[in-house]
Amino acid sequence: MTDIVKKSSFLDYAPAPESTSILHLQKSYGLFIDGEFVKGHGKSFQTISPSTEKTIAEIANANAKDVDTAVAAARRAYDRTWSKLSGADRGKYLFRIARLVQERARELAVAESLDNGKPIKESRDVDVPLVAAWFFYYAGWADKLDYAGLGPSPRALGVAAQVIPWNFPLLMLAWKVAPALAAGNTVVIKPAETTPLSALIFAEILQQAELPAGVVNIITGAGDTGEALVNHPDVNKVAFTGSTGVGRAIAKSVAGTGKKVTLELGGKAANIVFDDAPIDQAVEGIVNGIFFNQGHVCCAGSRLLVQESIHDDVVERLKSRLSTLRLGDPLDKNTDIGAINSREQLERIRTLSDIGEKEGADRWTADCVIPDKGFWFAPTIFDNVSTSSTIAREEVFGPVLSVLTFRTPAEAIAKANNTPYGLSAGIWSDKGSKILAVADQLRAGVIWANTFNRFDPSSPFGGYKESGYGREGGRHGLAAYLESAGWSAAK
Ligand code: NAP
Ligand code: MG
Repeated sequence: MTDIVKKSSFLDYAPAPESTSILHLQKSYGLFIDGEFVKGHGKSFQTISPSTEKTIAEIANANAKDVDTAVAAARRAYDRTWSKLSGADRGKYLFRIARLVQERARELAVAESLDNGKPIKESRDVDVPLVAAWFFYYAGWADKLDYAGLGPSPRALGVAAQVIPWNFPLLMLAWKVAPALAAGNTVVIKPAETTPLSALIFAEILQQAELPAGVVNIITGAGDTGEALVNHPDVNKVAFTGSTGVGRAIAKSVAGTGKKVTLELGGKAANIVFDDAPIDQAVEGIVNGIFFNQGHVCCAGSRLLVQESIHDDVVERLKSRLSTLRLGDPLDKNTDIGAINSREQLERIRTLSDIGEKEGADRWTADCVIPDKGFWFAPTIFDNVSTSSTIAREEVFGPVLSVLTFRTPAEAIAKANNTPYGLSAGIWSDKGSKILAVADQLRAGVIWANTFNRFDPSSPFGGYKESGYGREGGRHGLAAYLESAGWSAAK
């Protein structure tokens, strides 16, 4: 291992920063309501770059009155325009948006990395291409709803209230907006307080695409803006992605209102490595599973379950691999690990890691240079973690891996399912029949075999238990925005 670490210092990369000159940022951004940027009535706030702590722009804050204006705009657009268009015409707008996202891909990737802190190679090669893919995919569905297996002439719900988190700001927007529009709904969406920038550039794209005014409204603000939005009496659908705590509060507040709800919440995924797995591939998969996007991934493989006989080998190779990862400037094309999105999240990761150590797990941290400014956390492994340990149960939502062992497939399944969550899981084995047999018994919405963190718009995504309910993506994702035959909640 030491050899590999030493070698990596000989192979130091010269910085290769992506230029920010492609961005045409405003000093301040308004709310995007009824096709225009307007002032917010709440107290504006600043979005910062988590890698430098420097302010990027001043952002408007939507209060209850602004939420009301946005929902009214979405309702008008639904009644007068969007519900009157054919599926084929709705599809044309979605195709146009998808192409504009591709045209402005570099700009969107730079904005995302600047505001969120994720490495440019991820925003450039994963987030933004998937955003375009999501719009292309649902554009194709817009005129085929009758053939989606959801009954004859499925109908839109009306106005969708959507609230998204900060870990994949633009991708989560695409997951929400694309199926909603394809199914014929109009939208009011609130991005997270720390990452509004890409959604505001997306608003410009909607203007460029000449999407009819009010079909998509983007309101910025914090938790209280989100609360006012989901509780607004004139919304027909609530789609939320975020923490289980807030999801629970939303489920309570909309109960009995007739609003249709989907909740995509937290996770604590098991990544199971059997002794017959291709070890080097598995190590890459473990790294991708938990260190992609600094571990700010709801479906991250945060619990490594490794068969006891190969434990030492896997952990050793994992440490070697982690020692080669480069942490630093998110805009540098060589960067593997970017900044933690906020000071608050950094504190949470630190606190939970300290608890992990106090509870007796063995802590190992990759030896990286931490920049002076900004929020950073070096890739960390906890070995000898017990199932009852806090870090094996709670979502750390950071670059922290817990390692547990098992002896038999039955023990692996029992340990994997021993969690209040049920979002995703991974299985590594050379034997297809073993993979299928284990997958069958895992209580997780998404199960990857010999890979991890793969996303595709045609594949449904969502959880069991405290990971929420409803599915996004694929045909299932359309069903979440359509009324079952013969009944419509839309006014
Ligand atoms: P969060 O605190 O629940 O926030 C999510 C969004 O909800 C943000 O826009 C937030 O606004 C807003 N919000 C906060 N309080 C609210 C309230 N009372 N009513 C309505 N909206 C409210 O979650 P987070 O910390 O940003 O995101 C991390 C969590 O998201 C993790 O648990 C992760 O697992 C989960 N996640 C799940 C998925 C999935 O698909 N299952 C995907 C990504 C992330 P502000 O940010 O402005 O406060
Ligand atoms: Mg920010």
